[in-house]
Amino acid sequence: MLEIAESYTIAEQMRKSLVGKIVSEIVVLHSPHKFMWFWGERETFEELLEGKQVTGAKQYGGIIELELETVRVTFSDGAYPRYYDNSKKFPKKHQFMMIFDDDTAISVSVQMYGAVGIFEEGTYDGDYYIGSKEKPSPLDDRFTYAYFKQIYNQSGGKKVSAKAFLGTQQRFPGIGNGTLQDILYHAGLHPKCDMATVSEEELKKLYTCLRDTVKEMCQKGGRDTEKDLFGVEGTYQTWLSKKTVWTPCPQCGYELHKGSYLGGTIYYCEHCQRM
Ligand SMILES: [Zn+2]
Repeated sequence: MLEIAESYTIAEQMRKSLVGKIVSEIVVLHSPHKFMWFWGERETFEELLEGKQVTGAKQYGGIIELELETVRVTFSDGAYPRYYDNSKKFPKKHQFMMIFDDDTAISVSVQMYGAVGIFEEGTYDGDYYIGSKEKPSPLDDRFTYAYFKQIYNQSGGKKVSAKAFLGTQQRFPGIGNGTLQDILYHAGLHPKCDMATVSEEELKKLYTCLRDTVKEMCQKGGRDTEKDLFGVEGTYQTWLSKKTVWTPCPQCGYELHKGSYLGGTIYYCEHCQRM
């Protein structure tokens, strides 16, 4: 899934390799997919995009936003954009393709589920999009401990686990079930840990681990479990993922475990992460 570091990396790659290109054609839902959504009005997509020039790209939480003059194209969740430098390499199956006039293209083959948005700037107001755009990113200065604690206080009242706190309700846009595993590992909290039991000291540590982990993931071009615009794995080595499960914990040597929780896989060290 596209989480903060992948979106950050791909938006940067788009700025370097796509700016200046002009769209000659788009193809929508060439291969049908049950869990592919579009933001915007389907019947306007061709008119909005054809002839437009790529002018920039940004990242908001887990969302990548490609800018084409006044038009915006977003990619989120499993809608990974992939670049093809030559029409001979264009994929046969895809749910969205944007072909440029220099015979290159961006294509999306959805993994699990995902969304592509195509709209005039300022005309789309889906909650997920607006939340991702407006909430402070862990990468910027507005993401202070005071802000983090405010979000924590707002989540009080009912029982919230550490995984649910970081990864649901869009409290922290771009932090999903991948990114949060390493944050919790470094913070010493089990994904099932009840956030109501967390001390001030633990909360501060969680805040620091969140910022440090996200920054490192972005600096290293995303996680090694995900691929970038060119189909290359990120160089951030995950501590907890399918790549490390059942190997010894780097901190204590005990075998890393996995389980199912809140509709996804969790990874953890029973010794280093408290329940
Ligand atoms: Zn351990």
